[in-house]
Amino acid sequence: MRVCDLDQILTNAGVCALVDGEQVAIFRVDDKVYAVGNRDPFSKANVLSRGIVGEVKGELVVASPIYKQHFSLTTGRCLEDATVRIPVYAVRVEEGVVHVQPAKHVKTTCCFCGVGCGVIATSSNNAITAVKGDPAHPANFGRLCTKGAALHLSTDPAARLLYPEVNGERASWDQALEFTASRFREIIAAHGPDAVAFYISGQLLTEDYYVFNKLAKGLIGTNNVDTNSRLCMSSAVAGYKMSLGADAPPCAYEDIDAADLILIAGSNTAFAHPVLFQRLESARARNPDLKVIVIDPRATVTARAADLHLAIAPGTDIALFNAMLGVLQREKLLDQVFIGEHTENLPSLQPLLDYWTLERAAEVCGLPASQIVLAARMFGAATAALSLYCQGLNQSTSGTHKNAALINLHLATGQIGKPGTGPFSLTGQPNAMGGREVGGMANLLSGHRDLSSAADRAEVAALWGVPSVPALPGKTAVEMFEAIGRGEIKAVWIACTNPAQSMPDVSAVRKALERAELVVVQEAFRDAETCAYADVLLPAASWGEKEGTVTNSERRVSRVRAAVTPPGEARADWEIAADFARRLSADLVIPAKAGIHFSYASPEEIFNEHRETTRGRDLDITGLSYALLERDGPQQWPYPAGATAGRTRLYADGIFPTPSGRARFVATEYTPPAEAPDADYPIRLTTGRLRDQWHSMTRTGLVARLFSHSPEPEVLLHKDSFQGFEDGSLVRVSSRRGSIVLKARASDDMRPGDAFVAMHWGSRFMAGAGTNALTVRAFDPHSKQPELKHAAVRIEPFAAKWRGILTAAATSELPREASGLLARFDHAALSLVDGAESQVRFELASSMDPDPKLLAALEDLFGSPPAPFISASDRAVCVCFRVSESAVRSSLANGANLATLQRDLRCGTNCGSCVPELRRLLPT
Ligand code: SF4
Repeated sequence: MRVCDLDQILTNAGVCALVDGEQVAIFRVDDKVYAVGNRDPFSKANVLSRGIVGEVKGELVVASPIYKQHFSLTTGRCLEDATVRIPVYAVRVEEGVVHVQPAKHVKTTCCFCGVGCGVIATSSNNAITAVKGDPAHPANFGRLCTKGAALHLSTDPAARLLYPEVNGERASWDQALEFTASRFREIIAAHGPDAVAFYISGQLLTEDYYVFNKLAKGLIGTNNVDTNSRLCMSSAVAGYKMSLGADAPPCAYEDIDAADLILIAGSNTAFAHPVLFQRLESARARNPDLKVIVIDPRATVTARAADLHLAIAPGTDIALFNAMLGVLQREKLLDQVFIGEHTENLPSLQPLLDYWTLERAAEVCGLPASQIVLAARMFGAATAALSLYCQGLNQSTSGTHKNAALINLHLATGQIGKPGTGPFSLTGQPNAMGGREVGGMANLLSGHRDLSSAADRAEVAALWGVPSVPALPGKTAVEMFEAIGRGEIKAVWIACTNPAQSMPDVSAVRKALERAELVVVQEAFRDAETCAYADVLLPAASWGEKEGTVTNSERRVSRVRAAVTPPGEARADWEIAADFARRLSADLVIPAKAGIHFSYASPEEIFNEHRETTRGRDLDITGLSYALLERDGPQQWPYPAGATAGRTRLYADGIFPTPSGRARFVATEYTPPAEAPDADYPIRLTTGRLRDQWHSMTRTGLVARLFSHSPEPEVLLHKDSFQGFEDGSLVRVSSRRGSIVLKARASDDMRPGDAFVAMHWGSRFMAGAGTNALTVRAFDPHSKQPELKHAAVRIEPFAAKWRGILTAAATSELPREASGLLARFDHAALSLVDGAESQVRFELASSMDPDPKLLAALEDLFGSPPAPFISASDRAVCVCFRVSESAVRSSLANGANLATLQRDLRCGTNCGSCVPELRRLLPT
């Protein structure tokens, strides 16, 4: 857009112009012209065009005329606060006229959790400068949580893989993919197609997933394609199929508004699905009759907000649900009409119901019998009962039956298919559902087809133009890495996931990766732990750079759109997989598959092919298209051809996709977790999410403000579990598989005898292999989902002979270089400290004096020697406005309430993620 003549701008001065409705500050420095946003983000005034320009620390900046901050004219970065950026606009001068390219606003979808919030990303000059919630998206209506609101802060190109590499050397795409294709050909020729495997991700888009699945099952002829969704939702899938006949969550988010009882099982929703929890809180504010029951071993923020919290012993949910069903039966709270007309198999549960007396269940679950009765009565008396559940049920060796036992309660009371009712699994990842839709797992096929069905296999083979797809189920996540460790799988291709951090018993997974003949890692972020094991590194495009679709927890398909182009030579995931497939198919030694093609020109072509595989299936989306999603916004499936809207809620007619059309009661046997506490390992360890981090922190670990809520790895314990050590002291936590040293923290959230460590910590941020050094590989027999939620551990004091702490201003390189030294200490924690100038904080301890050369290396890196240890600064409750817990407590001591906290400190007035915690801190 033309803005002015060059002569109208004085050299080394600025002018302000309105570009597409936005104020832009334009500066002429020597013979160059720069354009940035005119708004000073600190004073909120449109004044930067009046600022002085010059060089600071080698960077051309404009100084705010109001406060002291400086902003780079080339990147928009604030020199004093790395978390703040102003927009930078592309500018050109033609024939003496200055043209500024307006900012772009692109509607897309958050790449973190399964809520699937709509995001509007603002970009200029090929950089995403801001995000806000999309008010029109039905998943969030404009809300974003702390993670979503920080999306634009995690786009630093310095954190990215920019070029392909082969054996540690930079390579062209041709070289990298030809090398990989030739190694795959050799291995397949020598050992057969099952000697290769793909381990992919619930964070891929549906189109990416589709191509990988077709490549493995259609072209290569192996079902060895599994995904990190195996660690997340596979028990929910198996539970739905076992009870209801199909992998289809029956509910919608709007059911939260219509329920009068919400039972939350095994989910800290306030942290894991914050925007959904805010919706629940709003529903409660509107309807005081809406009651909430939370079943969780920990008194989480979610549990503390409940009307009834059942602090169940870890892993005993089936005993509880069976006992609740017994109460419902004895107190005649069953819906006999619904049971008679729409279900089968209830009589076969009678022995279970007789066995699970209140007394027995109370003892196993560690609950008062009266609480079980109360929970059952609340459920049975509800007009509309909705269950929300997540990893507390899924990540278990009896996860499928835990899901089915909860679904039994819904079937017994007819609480399904009506507004405000139903069993509703909350999807962990943004597109675990999309992956299931395309059959991107070792035991599934496209369009919710089953690998075990010859008819289903034949349909998929016909759709792909191949003679057949293999019948033998592939290796699921845990099995796959075990097979790699045994040398049966020789080549593995890992895309968009970080198994060297996230898999259970991670030290064994790392050994397996070392043994593999070929490890291909397709990844956006260069510091993901798995990159260290790669023979071939392929740089992938990331959030904000990709086009496609995702499906959220409520079956809603949303468009993901690119706001900028990927950095360096990074490419879209589907494009890399399709390019490889074309090269591989040119000379593949397995039977010719001339009919199969990978010549996609766009993700839309892939979507259209995927859409065809759903025709006539339960998830039929033949009525959807990119054009319709563009016009009408995100839509729920099924959405068959000819429909004018997707289906909000399933099973309203009481007909289920089972052979009889009836839902099945499942006789769910309680089995204890795989690893019981004993004299050597007496503590039960559970794992879970932090509010402000995501998975293995490849993205959120780049943002200083996302550390301020939980800055470092800790093990939370009940005060009675402190034996021989104190609150805040270092302890060694050991399981039969490994150990880590971290701080012990007393928490009244915990039951005596239980411990909790957040799942996110890996060897990029702490010494050792991270949280998953401790967890078990044992998995559920139906879903093959591992029991990440339960391990037996021992906790002992750690005697540090030496402790030190280093801090320095954060640069892109410092965390990476410091991370490389973590393993040299018994205890080390690396974090970013949010503030006027973000800092890197490196805390270290060892049982002996460190090598002087190591200390010298640290001094070189940080510019000063390690200082004596002091404890980390006060934890932030509100990261948007940097409000610490001590500030909140101090205000409360002076008589503040929620409204005055929000007025005076501003906490809880932006994204709202901290409101549940603020409520928890209020005096009762
Ligand atoms: Fe993203 Fe937060 Fe929404 Fe989840 S709740 S999709 S993390 S903004």
